[in-house]
Amino acid sequence: MIKKIKRYPELADPQLRPRYSGIATFFRLPLAEQAAGVDIGIIGVPFDGGVTNRTGARHGPRGVREQSTLIRRFNQATGVGPFDLVAVADLGDAWLEQPYELVGALNEIQAFFAQVHAAGTVPLSVGGDHSISLPILRAIAQDGPVGMVHIDAHCDTGDDYLGSRFHHGAPFRRAVEEGLLDPARVIQIGIRGSVNHPDMWKFSHDAGMRVVYMEEFTDKGWRWAAEEARRIVGTGRTYLSFDIDSLDPVYAPGTGTPEAGGLTMVEAQRLVRALAGIDFIGGDVVEVSPPFDSSGLTAQNAATILFESLCILAPAAAKRKGTAAAPG
Ligand code: MN
Ligand code: MN
Repeated sequence: MIKKIKRYPELADPQLRPRYSGIATFFRLPLAEQAAGVDIGIIGVPFDGGVTNRTGARHGPRGVREQSTLIRRFNQATGVGPFDLVAVADLGDAWLEQPYELVGALNEIQAFFAQVHAAGTVPLSVGGDHSISLPILRAIAQDGPVGMVHIDAHCDTGDDYLGSRFHHGAPFRRAVEEGLLDPARVIQIGIRGSVNHPDMWKFSHDAGMRVVYMEEFTDKGWRWAAEEARRIVGTGRTYLSFDIDSLDPVYAPGTGTPEAGGLTMVEAQRLVRALAGIDFIGGDVVEVSPPFDSSGLTAQNAATILFESLCILAPAAAKRKGTAAAPG
């Protein structure tokens, strides 16, 4: 028995159907089998084979889907209604046929996102650990390197670790080496925590990335950080990558490598909102680990950041399509 609402069949409008009912998809969106016709596809990547310490991010997509059912239709602060601007769907999971073979797993993820990219669909992904950003960039930056706004406690530009070139501490070093990222158009915000050696993030600096350590962020604030991001990435195509461990562990205890002294949720929300207008061609929210998230708070905050990200990706996608302008 399939019970359907009579109006707005494309989205389970909370005015017509309780948000807590039905099978959880991202934002209660329809689950689409094909990317064709979808402007922004929200995609789970249940993979944590690149984690160097505490695991569990493979459960991230399910945790965020569940909590994302709380999200409503409009962004109160900006007035953006992403579901009215472009066609948004839950494209399911880029799940792995061989999850325990790291290099092959990354290739499987890349193949999934190559299909999404070929359909002209902007991917907004939910990890999974941060190693998934590399195969996503391989798929969507085929036409030349892109810029990136990267919000994280860690630069993730480390080198080989324990014999592996690929892990969640290295995706953006590999992405620069592979010509997927233009390091001069990359800004990394929220960096902090203890390090294995004093120049652990040397690659970021040597490559010319703008590294905003937490001390500079707290001195100057989210408004300045957004302006600095805008200055660094400019008007070109840009990727948005949000590691949930950028948040203070008070807001995001459920993650593999928490670091004290991080962003508040208010700072993160206002920072992401203030990035509106940048030509984002994709994004992700990664490193949510439900086994360490006893109350669902981390997944709930991840769903909130996912919605804030959607609210800046949707106007960018609409602008590229020429169908709608972002509400002022
Ligand atoms: Mn990261
Ligand atoms: Mn991190």
